[in-house]
Amino acid sequence: MQDHKQRFLFPDSDIRGELVQVESSVSRILEGHSYPLPVQGLIGEAVAAVALLASTLKFKGRLALQAQGKGPVSLLLAECSHDGELRALARHSDGQDWSHGDIQTLIGEGTMVITITPDQGRQYQGIVPLSGDTLAECLQGYFQQSEQLPTSLWLASGNNRAAGLLLQRLPNQLATTDGNNQMWEHLDALASTLQMEELLNLDDQTILHRLFHDTPPQLPDAQPLQFGCTCSRDRNRNALISLGNQELQQLLDEDGEVTLTCDFCRHQEHFDAVDLAEMIREGN
Ligand SMILES: [Zn+2]
Repeated sequence: MQDHKQRFLFPDSDIRGELVQVESSVSRILEGHSYPLPVQGLIGEAVAAVALLASTLKFKGRLALQAQGKGPVSLLLAECSHDGELRALARHSDGQDWSHGDIQTLIGEGTMVITITPDQGRQYQGIVPLSGDTLAECLQGYFQQSEQLPTSLWLASGNNRAAGLLLQRLPNQLATTDGNNQMWEHLDALASTLQMEELLNLDDQTILHRLFHDTPPQLPDAQPLQFGCTCSRDRNRNALISLGNQELQQLLDEDGEVTLTCDFCRHQEHFDAVDLAEMIREGN
């Protein structure tokens, strides 16, 4: 099964849903890193979360989830673009007891920031405290605080796979407030019966049939999701230039070259003495 997101719509109501299943992109994100198992789980959930959240974007751009705290996982970062490109990373300390997988133990006291960056226009940022035990609970807090449309979501992750389910109440268009409210409570209660193993291991059709067989949703075509990194030689070069000439000169004198490794995709970009000298010339 290919990584994808599947929208679903309930006829005669203003409630939509989204299912996300990611496997090869999660494997690619974890590849080359030695993340402890609970950290891998957290990254998988974050990847499913940004894929779900990006599906609500109405413009071209990127959505990022960043959680930072005082626990052993100091940073969790996941990004998704409007066309379904995913990347993620985590920073963690070594020598920890990794037997507990909840957010409070792993990331601890801290904040979660959702950043939406349109290709054109102003950036939006929403910040919430990490107050839940799971990433899904923290995101629920984000939706409540940022005055978004009523939204529920569920995340599951494990064995290099991740999946997510989102339900969202849209503004009244096809139904009345009463009708939508009733339908929302009904569908939300049904979705809450889904076991996380089911979300992670069953295909879309089976999940949707199991939950909503009395009100079968309509399914537009699924959209592909895949790993994608935005790093480039130009960006690495700009990062080096931003160090300033003094530091570049020091690099040139001491090492004569520099190799930068992308934290997301592990791609290595090499700059030799000629490259460094050119950057210093440009800086003057
Ligand atoms: Zn990269």
